[in-house]
Amino acid sequence: MKKSKITNSFCCGCKACEQVCPKYAISMKIDEKGFWYPRIDKKKCVECGLCHKVCPENYQSFQTNLPECIVYYNTDKEKQQEYSSGGAFLRICKAYVEGKDDYAIYGAAITTGNIVKHIRITNWDNVNQLSRSKYVQSDTENVYKQVKTDLSMKKYVVFSGTPCQVQALKNFLGKEYERLLLIDFVCHGVPSPMAYKKYCDSIAKTLGKKIDKVLFRYKQEIGPDKKWDTQGMSILFDDGTDYKETRAADVYMRAFLSELLSRPSCSECKYTKLNRVSDLTLGDFWGIEEEYPQFAIQNTAGTSMVLVNSLKGRELVQNIKQKVCNEILKYVDLEIATRRNVPLTSTIEPHPMREQFYDNLRKKKNWSFEECLDQTLYPRGNIVQRVARKIYRMACVNRNG
Ligand SMILES: Cc1cc2nc3c(=O)[nH]c(=O)nc-3n(C[C@H](O)[C@H](O)[C@H](O)COP(=O)(O)OP(=O)(O)OC[C@H]3O[C@@H](n4cnc5c(N)ncnc54)[C@H](O)[C@@H]3O)c2cc1C
Repeated sequence: MKKSKITNSFCCGCKACEQVCPKYAISMKIDEKGFWYPRIDKKKCVECGLCHKVCPENYQSFQTNLPECIVYYNTDKEKQQEYSSGGAFLRICKAYVEGKDDYAIYGAAITTGNIVKHIRITNWDNVNQLSRSKYVQSDTENVYKQVKTDLSMKKYVVFSGTPCQVQALKNFLGKEYERLLLIDFVCHGVPSPMAYKKYCDSIAKTLGKKIDKVLFRYKQEIGPDKKWDTQGMSILFDDGTDYKETRAADVYMRAFLSELLSRPSCSECKYTKLNRVSDLTLGDFWGIEEEYPQFAIQNTAGTSMVLVNSLKGRELVQNIKQKVCNEILKYVDLEIATRRNVPLTSTIEPHPMREQFYDNLRKKKNWSFEECLDQTLYPRGNIVQRVARKIYRMACVNRNG
């Protein structure tokens, strides 16, 4: 790492440097916000420079052509609650591995202990573990090594992750593999695992319950329709009860969407552009109701926007298109389809109080996540405002309990 230009604000925490180091000289340490950063044991380092070469902040390999764009959703109402937007991820994986015995699908899952990390799926029955966005930085542990092993054994591999994780894998592998399909998504930025844990612990403590399962992007029922754009949060407890809130009411989603939670490097992201590093890029088709009402009319449960970046991606989409069944898949205009998806082409501006918020999360051990948020955003609230907020919080808790 000596030769690297990486400073903390640029490091994206992909862990490729740790995984590539032949001398095991790099270990990932957690900073005060709860994000991973590499630390080098100088006694072990032989200055081979591999950590520098593998770093996605140093080397990017974008597709040279602009992508094509498709709109996709599954019309099967039973399935629509299983994924964040239109279910493109599962459909693409299915098309890629169908008829193949030897495959591995890598993506982010919420694992035992409520830890978000990349896992390897080799049995289609378990693939749903990868579905849904998890608005937390996923731990890549040693997946780049595992992918390399799988590819060397001639397995078909799908790797899905943030654009920087995809580039990290490409740098780690160092060459192209025909049997590797790369999928990234439009990434708004990743919160730290520490912030997510504080949120989950706060809810569990306030309600006096144990969390069984967290489901991001719960599609809340509002009126007769299921509305995907409520981007709800749903938590199932071990006593069978649950908590469900829209993004406007849930404190984690409010903090995330207010840009209080993202990793510092996300504001410097080099991947917010139309030219992508993967074969296919997934996103939410925001604004479909206005831009393409013909596709939105019967579908309020989420629509995917997919950027088709490479020939491999295009062939796969063609393959799906020939077999469409209970689904909509159409090519649409790139400019129109992407103009409302700001994080696709612009980096996020962090909230001016982000440092203070993370400081509160770390230092104020007795404050709940919600109190940290309130005290960050309205630190000078008078006693009446504080009491009013407390009553409102209690009302929410009672409603959900
Ligand atoms: C942190 C984050 C920010 C996002 N920001 C935007 C945005 O601003 N605009 C937009 O259009 N879309 C955004 N997305 C993508 C969007 O939420 C959907 O995930 C995407 O549209 C795919 O939906 P789907 O229905 O096809 O599949 P889903 O079933 O929802 O797909 C899930 C896929 O995402 C991967 N994944 C989920 N969480 C993570 C994670 N933490 N780290 C790495 N990989 C993960 C899974 O491995 C799986 O491949 C974001 C996703 C995440 C995780």
